[in-house]
Amino acid sequence: MVEIYHEDDGRLDYIKNKTIGIIGYGNQGRAQALNLRDSGLRVIIGNIEDDFKKIAKNDGFDVFAIEEAVSQSDIIFILIPDESIKEIFDQKVKPYLKSSSTLNFASGYNVGFKLLELPSNIDIIMIAPRMIGVGVRENYLNGKGFFSFIAIEQNVTGKAKNTLLALAKGLGTLKKGAVMMSTKEEAILDLFNEQAFGPAFGRVLLTSINVLLEAGYPAEAVLIEMYMSGEMSYTYKKMADIGLIKQTDFHSYTSQYGAMSRGIRYFKLPIKPIMQRTLEEIENGVFTQEWEKKITKLKFKFIKFFATRQKINKLEKQVRKSMKMKLFDIYEEQPPTAEDIEKAKEITNELKMFEKYYET
Ligand code: NDP
Repeated sequence: MVEIYHEDDGRLDYIKNKTIGIIGYGNQGRAQALNLRDSGLRVIIGNIEDDFKKIAKNDGFDVFAIEEAVSQSDIIFILIPDESIKEIFDQKVKPYLKSSSTLNFASGYNVGFKLLELPSNIDIIMIAPRMIGVGVRENYLNGKGFFSFIAIEQNVTGKAKNTLLALAKGLGTLKKGAVMMSTKEEAILDLFNEQAFGPAFGRVLLTSINVLLEAGYPAEAVLIEMYMSGEMSYTYKKMADIGLIKQTDFHSYTSQYGAMSRGIRYFKLPIKPIMQRTLEEIENGVFTQEWEKKITKLKFKFIKFFATRQKINKLEKQVRKSMKMKLFDIYEEQPPTAEDIEKAKEITNELKMFEKYYET
């Protein structure tokens, strides 16, 4: 049975005398720090010397070096990007943790896939919002709340659940609902969405664009029709608000009949076995092992460069110019250096495959 928690399940008094240290004042860090403070909790910030530190000070927080914030806190939120967590955790967090303190992550990736050597004398929990930072703040302020996945990885004090639900309430997520699971399950769901639905959707979108362009329709019209209008995001919002099928009421009968009658043509599209393979590679750790390798970071650099050279990218730049829309620097991705090419020799054939894929 899945456990789901709501507003009445959390009690702020469990943590009212605790100091909460937010490590990293970025997307999630700022939103979560402001929400907790507005819930009447004591919050301090640990951040490196950067622009985010200035923002935290402007927001009225006491800001310390990460090591100092960890030493002063009873509850520590690790809100730096997943790929930087291991280094910062080993150097600036772990040596400064008080015993019986609580460590909270906003993603299950590092903990679920056992990438960190966690101390055995602290509680370890997770509150992973299903919402970007700006949304975490907005939905706290408007009282609607936001969904989260929560987990208890280690319960040394026997009070981890009280702390978890109190923090979840302070953040505002219990107003909408928090679903209990393991950190690994959270990481798997997140990676699957990114690796299965995301690229499959991207492929379908690009294929649709290419079919229309090849049939002679102008790029401006095609890109606006397919995604630039932002209409799809309203459909997505309605799916979430009222339901996947119910939202079809917002579309005309012509649109509904066309979609439903032609939809059957994709019935046998062989995406399920590909998605199952992707899920298996995430579950058995093959993906994480691959991503942790140094050569993969180099491979990523090449793939990203090939991806930015795609025809659609140039086309989009041209359309954005002609529609007087803002341009972004993604169009100017730096090519790999001669040194990178030399270092990537052992994966040349694999890279050629990606180069070819992104030419289409
Ligand atoms: P950000 O990219 O916004 O970065 C957060 C902060 O970490 C910034 O202040 C950044 O400063 C700092 N930082 C980055 N690298 C380092 C480093 N090596 N040492 C010290 N500080 C560093 O992160 P997010 O808020 O997006 O993500 C934080 C956590 O929240 C992650 O675990 C993520 O998975 C999770 N999460 C994120 C969501 C989102 O929508 N973004 C949604 C749900 C969960 P600087 O840039 O100056 O280095």
